[in-house]
Amino acid sequence: MSLLEIKNLHAEVEGKKILNGLTLTIEKGQVAAIMGPNGSGKSTLAYVLAGKPGYQVTSGEVLLDGENILGMAPDERAAKGVFLAFQYPVEVPGVATMTFLRTALNAQRKLRGEGELSTPAFMKLVRDTSAKLGVSQEHLRRAVNVGFSGGEKKRNEILQMAVLEPRLAVLDETDSGLDIDALKVVSEGVNRLRSPERSMIVITHYQRLLNYIVPDVVHVLAKGRVVKTGGKELALELEAKGYAEFVGEAA
Ligand code: ADP
Ligand code: MG
Ligand code: MG
Repeated sequence: MSLLEIKNLHAEVEGKKILNGLTLTIEKGQVAAIMGPNGSGKSTLAYVLAGKPGYQVTSGEVLLDGENILGMAPDERAAKGVFLAFQYPVEVPGVATMTFLRTALNAQRKLRGEGELSTPAFMKLVRDTSAKLGVSQEHLRRAVNVGFSGGEKKRNEILQMAVLEPRLAVLDETDSGLDIDALKVVSEGVNRLRSPERSMIVITHYQRLLNYIVPDVVHVLAKGRVVKTGGKELALELEAKGYAEFVGEAA
């Protein structure tokens, strides 16, 4: 069975139709890139998957391992293994990154009916994960994202993903203007966390990120629908030709 099946999804925000019959399948272990022009609905898709309030699904299905998640609250979806990396990470003054990670992980474990991790078990997990990703002890002690550089925020996002071990990670990098440092952090992190047990959707407007994260498959979104699917070479084709012909096809 596919990990994620989106069938004929229609969604709107503030009464405005944004997703128009979007159909998309993500296989287990797959890294899928979603590309598309500005305003095509890429971020909306990410928010609909995460269950962000205000994003109204009017018809269609989203099946995770065959189970419809559309009726679930955002935290239930997270507990099922859906992770959304935010395009604009929030700052949480006064809360150490380490504490934040622990709270997030235990909240998910609780919803799954698993017990809280003991302090030593959590410390071991976070130390091992940080070491693997090159995250310093100082970073773990700092308040979440407060005064972090773009690269540090991205590192934090990847660290969250590594600790929470999602089955489906959605990274929306569109329009965020990643500098080269941040780009490397994201791509190294994503590549390290690739696994047969984890699927990832990497949303990007530009081809550049896909030089570092080589996707298994590329989907093109235009006007709220998937209009083309192909291999990694599709990203290069888009970079060369632009989106115009796809936007035309979607009309
Ligand atoms: P992308 O991420 O592909 O650039 P978005 O999903 O952000 O596209 O936006 C798709 C369309 O929906 C755009 O036309 C955008 O203006 C509109 N839109 C997105 N969010 C809102 C909102 N909160 N209220 C009204 N319109 C929105
Ligand atoms: Mg946009
Ligand atoms: Mg966007």
